[in-house]
Amino acid sequence: MIHSQALVHVHLGAIAENYRRLSRLGSKMLPVIKADAYGHGLAPVARTLLEAGADQFAVGTVDEAVALRDALAADPSHELPRFHIVSLLGPLDAAEARTCREEGILPFVFREEQLAALHEAGKAGEEPMPVALKFDTGMARLGFTEQGLPELLDRLTALPGLRPVMVASHLAASDDPSKAEFTREQNARFSRILNAVRERGHETLGCLANSAGILAWPNLHYDVQRPGLALYGLNPLIGTAWADRGSLLWPAMEITVPVIQTHELKAGQSISYGRLYTAPEDKRVAIVAAGYADFYSRSLSSADGKGPAMVLRGKRAPVLGRVCMQLTAVDVSSIPDVVPGDRAYLLGGPAPARVTADELAGWQGTISYEIVTAMGMNERRYSDDILVSY
Ligand SMILES: *Cc1c(COP(=O)(O)O)cnc(C)c1O
Repeated sequence: MIHSQALVHVHLGAIAENYRRLSRLGSKMLPVIKADAYGHGLAPVARTLLEAGADQFAVGTVDEAVALRDALAADPSHELPRFHIVSLLGPLDAAEARTCREEGILPFVFREEQLAALHEAGKAGEEPMPVALKFDTGMARLGFTEQGLPELLDRLTALPGLRPVMVASHLAASDDPSKAEFTREQNARFSRILNAVRERGHETLGCLANSAGILAWPNLHYDVQRPGLALYGLNPLIGTAWADRGSLLWPAMEITVPVIQTHELKAGQSISYGRLYTAPEDKRVAIVAAGYADFYSRSLSSADGKGPAMVLRGKRAPVLGRVCMQLTAVDVSSIPDVVPGDRAYLLGGPAPARVTADELAGWQGTISYEIVTAMGMNERRYSDDILVSY
């Protein structure tokens, strides 16, 4: 539980619009809403996507899949058919295998023990349970391998209680033009695996592309795509030669925090822990009520007031000195009308001053995925609009 002054403003209309745009590019979508929908909120995002036409979702843990099922069950018009919620991590013990069966969660499976546990969780006379087979085609993270495929197919024959319905793999570098050859190799491997599984009589859907795969690789779409980041309006191709392919998306998250004091900082005076910043001339500063406890990273600290910034009254207010646990100082010398109670944008804000997730990520040496997933854990407010400032 976070006790924070930061407010996360989620613009659900943007997520719906992104979904519609991605649907026009690909075929069937399996929206990825793991990690609380990348910090945007599992249930509200799922409801928005359902209304935009989605009828299946992928989350991470089995727990999260059950939480989603329960949240949607509250409204009969949002109820999903069984096995339309995917757990990307799959069952990690016998209890989770039983949960998948009972709750109708479609599990990704990537090792033999999971197949055995899911098979065992079934009862005599029950319909075979659908499973999604996850293969490692180059990510070297999770999955069965191409070499192990004959053995896996034999094993599946011995487990009639299971019915493979999907063959999936994950691309390691679909967002990187300089590694296109690797993506082609992953695809070739995936294609061989999918064909081999189908040749054994399993009617399976191919599922490979993530957001970058959808935007940059039209020939890798197969039957189902798994968009994550792009749904939230963030561009996985940013900073590459392919960036324009992901530019037609609407960012869905803004974050504000209140100013709680303003004061002068005289020339020669330092500010915050460690005296990292000393004012070269007289300054006016605003102290805002957010810091690393609110996932405004301490790596956004600034020794020169020329890097990381927030937006106050439509203008950039650069961070001064160290970011603290729940407080950060910003330079408002050129925005003299700032008063306590004003809200500063940590993320978003009116154009042209707005702070993008990519900019925030760049300042702290990470990617936009981490920005929204972490900062989104603060208290959220929802609206159905699209951000007009973008
Ligand atoms: C998170 C995830 C995705 C979505 O990736 P994006 O780059 O956010 O589109 C797709 N597939 C798997 C297996 C994932 O874990």
